[in-house]
Amino acid sequence: MSSSSGTTPTVLVVGSSGMDMTIYLERIPKIGETLLGGEFLTCPGGKGANQAVAAARAGGTVKFVARLGEDHHGDEILAGFEADRIDASFIVRDSSTPTGTALIFVSEAGENSIGVAPGANGQLSPSDVANAGSAFDGTGAMLLQLEVPLETVEAAAALAQQKGIRVILNPAPAQPLPDSLMQMVSILTPNETEAELLTGIPINNLDDAERASVALRARGVDTVVLTLGEQGAYVSRAEGSYLVKAFKVNAIDTVAAGDVFNGALALALCEGLELKAAVRFANAAAAHSVTIPGAQPSAPKRSEIEAILK
Ligand code: ADP
Repeated sequence: MSSSSGTTPTVLVVGSSGMDMTIYLERIPKIGETLLGGEFLTCPGGKGANQAVAAARAGGTVKFVARLGEDHHGDEILAGFEADRIDASFIVRDSSTPTGTALIFVSEAGENSIGVAPGANGQLSPSDVANAGSAFDGTGAMLLQLEVPLETVEAAAALAQQKGIRVILNPAPAQPLPDSLMQMVSILTPNETEAELLTGIPINNLDDAERASVALRARGVDTVVLTLGEQGAYVSRAEGSYLVKAFKVNAIDTVAAGDVFNGALALALCEGLELKAAVRFANAAAAHSVTIPGAQPSAPKRSEIEAILK
Protein backbone atom coordinates (compact mmCIF):
# COMPACT_ATOMS: atom_id res chain seq x y z
CA MET A 1 0.00 0.00 0.00
CA SER A 2 2.95 2.39 -0.31
CA SER A 3 2.23 5.48 -2.39
CA SER A 4 3.21 5.40 -6.04
CA SER A 5 5.46 8.46 -5.75
CA GLY A 6 7.71 6.48 -3.39
CA THR A 7 7.39 9.05 -0.60
CA THR A 8 5.86 8.06 2.72
CA PRO A 9 2.38 9.48 3.20
CA THR A 10 2.37 12.25 5.79
CA VAL A 11 -0.25 12.74 8.50
CA LEU A 12 -0.44 15.96 10.50
CA VAL A 13 -1.79 15.79 14.04
CA VAL A 14 -2.64 18.90 16.08
CA GLY A 15 -3.61 18.11 19.64
CA SER A 16 -2.86 17.06 23.19
CA SER A 17 0.06 15.22 24.71
CA GLY A 18 0.65 14.43 28.35
CA MET A 19 1.67 11.92 30.97
CA ASP A 20 -0.78 9.45 32.49
CA MET A 21 0.14 8.40 36.03
CA THR A 22 -1.81 5.39 37.23
CA ILE A 23 -2.00 3.72 40.63
CA TYR A 24 -3.54 0.25 40.78
CA LEU A 25 -5.36 -0.25 44.08
CA GLU A 26 -7.65 -2.76 45.68
CA ARG A 27 -10.38 -0.13 45.35
CA ILE A 28 -10.75 3.60 44.57
CA PRO A 29 -9.84 5.63 47.72
CA LYS A 30 -12.72 7.39 49.44
CA ILE A 31 -12.72 11.15 50.05
CA GLY A 32 -10.21 11.93 52.81
CA GLU A 33 -8.74 8.43 52.72
CA THR A 34 -5.12 7.40 52.12
CA LEU A 35 -4.81 3.90 50.72
CA LEU A 36 -1.47 2.07 50.54
CA GLY A 37 -0.35 -0.88 48.52
CA GLY A 38 -0.92 0.11 44.92
CA GLU A 39 1.39 -0.46 41.96
CA PHE A 40 2.39 2.70 40.05
CA LEU A 41 2.77 3.19 36.29
CA THR A 42 3.58 6.24 34.17
CA CYS A 43 2.70 6.14 30.50
CA PRO A 44 2.57 8.84 27.81
CA GLY A 45 -0.99 9.68 26.76
CA GLY A 46 -3.24 12.44 25.42
CA LYS A 47 -5.54 11.83 22.46
CA GLY A 48 -3.37 13.81 20.05
CA ALA A 49 -0.24 11.88 20.99
CA ASN A 50 -2.05 8.52 20.98
CA GLN A 51 -3.34 9.17 17.46
CA ALA A 52 0.06 10.40 16.26
CA VAL A 53 1.71 7.24 17.60
CA ALA A 54 -0.97 5.05 15.99
CA ALA A 55 -0.47 6.70 12.58
CA ALA A 56 3.32 6.42 12.85
CA ARG A 57 3.32 2.73 13.87
CA ALA A 58 0.87 1.99 11.05
CA GLY A 59 3.56 3.20 8.66
CA GLY A 60 3.15 6.94 8.18
CA THR A 61 5.37 9.96 8.49
CA VAL A 62 3.75 11.99 11.24
CA LYS A 63 4.15 15.65 12.12
CA PHE A 64 2.77 16.59 15.52
CA VAL A 65 1.85 20.12 16.62
CA ALA A 66 1.52 20.26 20.43
CA ARG A 67 2.78 21.91 23.61
CA LEU A 68 4.80 20.27 26.37
CA GLY A 69 6.22 21.75 29.56
CA GLU A 70 9.95 22.29 29.96
CA ASP A 71 10.03 19.48 32.50
CA HIS A 72 11.01 15.85 32.98
CA HIS A 73 7.69 14.51 31.67
CA GLY A 74 8.05 16.63 28.55
CA ASP A 75 11.54 15.17 27.98
CA GLU A 76 10.30 11.61 28.47
CA ILE A 77 7.39 12.11 26.07
CA LEU A 78 9.71 13.56 23.41
CA ALA A 79 12.02 10.55 23.75
CA GLY A 80 9.01 8.34 23.01
CA PHE A 81 8.16 10.37 19.89
CA GLU A 82 11.74 9.96 18.72
CA ALA A 83 11.51 6.19 19.17
CA ASP A 84 8.33 6.21 17.06
CA ARG A 85 10.02 8.51 14.51
CA ILE A 86 7.39 11.24 14.93
CA ASP A 87 8.51 14.67 13.70
CA ALA A 88 8.42 16.71 16.91
CA SER A 89 10.00 19.85 15.46
CA PHE A 90 6.68 21.71 15.66
CA ILE A 91 6.20 20.95 19.37
CA VAL A 92 6.52 24.05 21.57
CA ARG A 93 8.19 23.67 25.00
CA ASP A 94 6.33 25.89 27.46
CA SER A 95 8.57 27.30 30.22
CA SER A 96 5.70 28.57 32.36
CA THR A 97 3.21 25.66 32.24
CA PRO A 98 3.86 22.02 33.12
CA THR A 99 3.24 19.10 30.78
CA GLY A 100 -0.38 17.92 30.87
CA THR A 101 -0.98 15.24 33.47
CA ALA A 102 -3.69 12.70 34.19
CA LEU A 103 -3.85 11.07 37.64
CA ILE A 104 -5.69 7.78 37.44
CA PHE A 105 -6.82 5.30 40.07
CA VAL A 106 -7.76 1.83 38.85
CA SER A 107 -9.45 -0.65 41.17
CA GLU A 108 -9.15 -4.46 41.10
CA ALA A 109 -12.69 -4.51 39.69
CA GLY A 110 -11.44 -2.43 36.75
CA GLU A 111 -13.26 0.77 37.72
CA ASN A 112 -11.33 4.01 37.37
CA SER A 113 -11.35 7.56 38.61
CA ILE A 114 -9.38 10.16 36.63
CA GLY A 115 -8.34 13.77 37.23
CA VAL A 116 -6.73 15.72 34.38
CA ALA A 117 -4.58 18.85 34.55
CA PRO A 118 -4.42 20.04 30.91
CA GLY A 119 -1.23 22.00 31.64
CA ALA A 120 0.56 23.01 28.45
CA ASN A 121 -2.23 21.51 26.30
CA GLY A 122 -4.47 24.35 27.51
CA GLN A 123 -1.93 26.84 26.14
CA LEU A 124 -1.77 25.46 22.58
CA SER A 125 -2.90 28.54 20.67
CA PRO A 126 -3.98 29.65 17.20
CA SER A 127 -0.61 31.39 16.91
CA ASP A 128 1.17 28.08 17.60
CA VAL A 129 -0.80 26.68 14.65
CA ALA A 130 0.15 29.65 12.47
CA ASN A 131 3.81 29.25 13.47
CA ALA A 132 3.64 25.59 12.43
CA GLY A 133 2.28 26.58 8.99
CA SER A 134 5.01 24.72 7.12
CA ALA A 135 3.92 21.46 8.82
CA PHE A 136 0.77 21.66 6.69
CA ASP A 137 2.70 21.40 3.43
CA GLY A 138 2.92 17.97 1.84
CA THR A 139 0.29 16.55 4.18
CA GLY A 140 -2.60 14.37 3.04
CA ALA A 141 -4.78 14.65 6.12
CA MET A 142 -4.91 16.45 9.43
CA LEU A 143 -6.24 14.84 12.59
CA LEU A 144 -7.86 16.91 15.36
CA GLN A 145 -9.45 16.10 18.74
CA LEU A 146 -10.92 18.28 21.51
CA GLU A 147 -8.32 18.19 24.31
CA VAL A 148 -6.82 21.58 23.30
CA PRO A 149 -8.68 24.94 23.18
CA LEU A 150 -11.52 25.01 20.64
CA GLU A 151 -10.20 28.22 19.06
CA THR A 152 -6.97 26.32 18.29
CA VAL A 153 -8.91 23.44 16.74
CA GLU A 154 -10.81 25.98 14.62
CA ALA A 155 -7.60 27.75 13.54
CA ALA A 156 -6.02 24.43 12.51
CA ALA A 157 -9.13 23.39 10.56
CA ALA A 158 -9.25 26.76 8.79
CA LEU A 159 -5.58 26.59 7.79
CA ALA A 160 -5.94 23.01 6.54
CA GLN A 161 -9.01 23.94 4.53
CA GLN A 162 -7.15 26.89 3.02
CA LYS A 163 -4.32 24.54 1.99
CA GLY A 164 -6.68 21.90 0.60
CA ILE A 165 -5.88 19.32 3.29
CA ARG A 166 -8.56 16.88 4.42
CA VAL A 167 -9.68 17.57 8.02
CA ILE A 168 -10.53 14.58 10.23
CA LEU A 169 -12.09 15.62 13.55
CA ASN A 170 -12.44 13.10 16.35
CA PRO A 171 -14.89 15.03 18.58
CA ALA A 172 -13.51 13.65 21.86
CA PRO A 173 -13.97 14.33 24.71
CA ALA A 174 -17.58 15.10 23.78
CA GLN A 175 -18.54 18.77 23.73
CA PRO A 176 -20.96 20.91 21.69
CA LEU A 177 -19.44 22.25 18.46
CA PRO A 178 -20.28 25.28 16.31
CA ASP A 179 -21.53 24.74 12.74
CA SER A 180 -18.68 26.96 11.53
CA LEU A 181 -16.26 24.19 12.61
CA MET A 182 -18.45 21.35 11.33
CA GLN A 183 -18.42 22.95 7.86
CA MET A 184 -14.62 22.65 7.72
CA VAL A 185 -14.64 18.93 8.58
CA SER A 186 -14.23 16.32 5.85
CA ILE A 187 -14.61 13.33 8.18
CA LEU A 188 -16.13 13.43 11.67
CA THR A 189 -15.37 10.33 13.78
CA PRO A 190 -17.57 10.32 16.90
CA ASN A 191 -18.14 7.26 19.06
CA GLU A 192 -21.69 6.53 20.26
CA THR A 193 -21.47 8.86 23.29
CA GLU A 194 -20.09 11.74 21.25
CA ALA A 195 -22.66 11.26 18.48
CA GLU A 196 -25.44 11.38 21.08
CA LEU A 197 -24.05 14.55 22.68
CA LEU A 198 -23.78 16.28 19.30
CA THR A 199 -27.23 15.25 18.01
CA GLY A 200 -29.38 14.36 21.02
CA ILE A 201 -29.98 10.93 19.42
CA PRO A 202 -29.01 7.94 21.65
CA ILE A 203 -27.27 5.33 19.46
CA ASN A 204 -28.83 1.93 20.14
CA ASN A 205 -28.94 0.44 16.63
CA LEU A 206 -28.02 1.13 13.01
CA ASP A 207 -31.18 3.18 12.40
CA ASP A 208 -30.07 5.53 15.19
CA ALA A 209 -26.58 5.64 13.67
CA GLU A 210 -28.11 6.63 10.32
CA ARG A 211 -30.32 9.34 11.84
CA ALA A 212 -27.45 10.81 13.87
CA SER A 213 -25.13 10.76 10.84
CA VAL A 214 -27.71 12.54 8.69
CA ALA A 215 -28.14 15.18 11.42
CA LEU A 216 -24.37 15.71 11.60
CA ARG A 217 -24.06 15.96 7.82
CA ALA A 218 -26.88 18.51 7.79
CA ARG A 219 -24.61 20.71 9.92
CA GLY A 220 -21.92 20.75 7.24
CA VAL A 221 -19.75 17.66 7.83
CA ASP A 222 -18.99 15.88 4.56
CA THR A 223 -18.62 12.30 5.87
CA VAL A 224 -19.46 10.71 9.22
CA VAL A 225 -17.60 7.62 10.46
CA LEU A 226 -19.41 6.65 13.65
CA THR A 227 -17.46 4.07 15.65
CA LEU A 228 -19.64 1.39 17.23
CA GLY A 229 -17.19 -0.52 19.45
CA GLU A 230 -17.24 -4.27 18.79
CA GLN A 231 -19.75 -3.76 15.95
CA GLY A 232 -17.29 -1.75 13.84
CA ALA A 233 -17.91 1.62 12.21
CA TYR A 234 -20.87 3.15 10.38
CA VAL A 235 -20.01 5.29 7.36
CA SER A 236 -22.41 7.93 6.08
CA ARG A 237 -21.91 10.34 3.17
CA ALA A 238 -24.02 11.80 0.37
CA GLU A 239 -23.47 8.69 -1.83
CA GLY A 240 -24.91 6.37 0.81
CA SER A 241 -24.33 4.63 4.14
CA TYR A 242 -22.89 1.28 5.20
CA LEU A 243 -21.51 -0.60 8.20
CA VAL A 244 -17.90 -1.80 8.09
CA LYS A 245 -17.88 -4.71 10.54
CA ALA A 246 -15.29 -4.98 13.31
CA PHE A 247 -12.80 -7.86 13.38
CA LYS A 248 -13.55 -10.52 15.99
CA VAL A 249 -10.86 -10.54 18.65
CA ASN A 250 -10.56 -11.35 22.34
CA ALA A 251 -10.88 -7.82 23.77
CA ILE A 252 -9.15 -7.26 27.10
CA ASP A 253 -8.69 -3.46 27.21
CA THR A 254 -10.54 -1.00 24.95
CA VAL A 255 -8.68 2.09 26.25
CA ALA A 256 -7.64 4.22 23.27
CA ALA A 257 -9.35 1.97 20.69
CA GLY A 258 -10.83 5.13 19.20
CA ASP A 259 -7.41 6.82 19.10
CA VAL A 260 -5.81 3.90 17.28
CA PHE A 261 -8.79 3.81 14.88
CA ASN A 262 -8.36 7.51 14.05
CA GLY A 263 -4.59 7.38 13.57
CA ALA A 264 -4.85 4.36 11.29
CA LEU A 265 -7.77 5.84 9.34
CA ALA A 266 -5.85 9.05 8.62
CA LEU A 267 -2.79 7.13 7.46
CA ALA A 268 -4.80 4.79 5.21
CA LEU A 269 -6.54 7.74 3.55
CA CYS A 270 -3.17 9.45 3.01
CA GLU A 271 -1.99 6.27 1.32
CA GLY A 272 -4.81 6.69 -1.15
CA LEU A 273 -7.18 3.96 0.03
CA GLU A 274 -10.89 4.36 -0.71
CA LEU A 275 -12.93 5.23 2.37
CA LYS A 276 -14.38 1.73 2.84
CA ALA A 277 -10.94 0.09 2.67
CA ALA A 278 -9.47 2.77 4.94
CA VAL A 279 -12.19 2.13 7.56
CA ARG A 280 -11.50 -1.61 7.32
CA PHE A 281 -7.78 -0.90 7.90
CA ALA A 282 -8.69 1.28 10.91
CA ASN A 283 -10.98 -1.47 12.28
CA ALA A 284 -8.08 -3.93 12.02
CA ALA A 285 -5.66 -1.60 13.84
CA ALA A 286 -8.22 -0.89 16.58
CA ALA A 287 -9.08 -4.60 16.91
CA HIS A 288 -5.42 -5.38 17.52
CA SER A 289 -5.21 -2.58 20.09
CA VAL A 290 -8.04 -3.96 22.25
CA THR A 291 -6.12 -7.21 22.72
CA ILE A 292 -3.26 -5.33 24.47
CA PRO A 293 -3.45 -3.25 27.69
CA GLY A 294 -2.68 0.47 27.76
CA ALA A 295 -3.05 3.37 25.34
CA GLN A 296 0.14 3.99 23.35
CA PRO A 297 1.64 0.55 24.08
CA SER A 298 -1.36 -1.02 22.33
CA ALA A 299 -0.97 0.83 18.99
CA PRO A 300 0.00 -1.88 16.47
CA LYS A 301 2.81 -1.97 13.93
CA ARG A 302 2.00 -2.27 10.23
CA SER A 303 2.77 -6.01 10.18
CA GLU A 304 0.35 -6.60 13.07
CA ILE A 305 -2.43 -4.72 11.26
CA GLU A 306 -1.78 -6.69 8.07
CA ALA A 307 -1.95 -9.96 10.00
CA ILE A 308 -5.50 -9.06 11.10
CA LEU A 309 -6.52 -7.91 7.62
CA LYS A 310 -5.65 -11.36 6.23
P1 ADP B 1 -13.91 4.69 21.68
O1 ADP B 1 -12.69 3.94 22.07
O2 ADP B 1 -13.64 6.08 21.24
O3 ADP B 1 -15.05 4.61 22.67
P2 ADP B 1 -15.19 2.59 20.09
O4 ADP B 1 -15.49 1.88 21.35
O5 ADP B 1 -16.32 2.85 19.16
O6 ADP B 1 -14.46 4.00 20.34
O7 ADP B 1 -14.06 1.76 19.33
C1 ADP B 1 -13.37 2.28 18.21
C2 ADP B 1 -13.08 1.18 17.24
O8 ADP B 1 -12.30 0.16 17.90
C3 ADP B 1 -14.31 0.45 16.71
O9 ADP B 1 -14.85 1.12 15.60
C4 ADP B 1 -13.70 -0.91 16.34
O10 ADP B 1 -13.04 -0.83 15.09
C5 ADP B 1 -12.64 -1.12 17.41
N1 ADP B 1 -13.13 -1.91 18.55
C6 ADP B 1 -13.59 -1.46 19.75
N2 ADP B 1 -13.96 -2.48 20.54
C7 ADP B 1 -13.73 -3.61 19.85
C8 ADP B 1 -13.90 -5.02 20.11
N3 ADP B 1 -14.39 -5.47 21.28
N4 ADP B 1 -13.55 -5.90 19.13
C9 ADP B 1 -13.03 -5.48 17.95
N5 ADP B 1 -12.85 -4.18 17.65
C10 ADP B 1 -13.19 -3.25 18.57
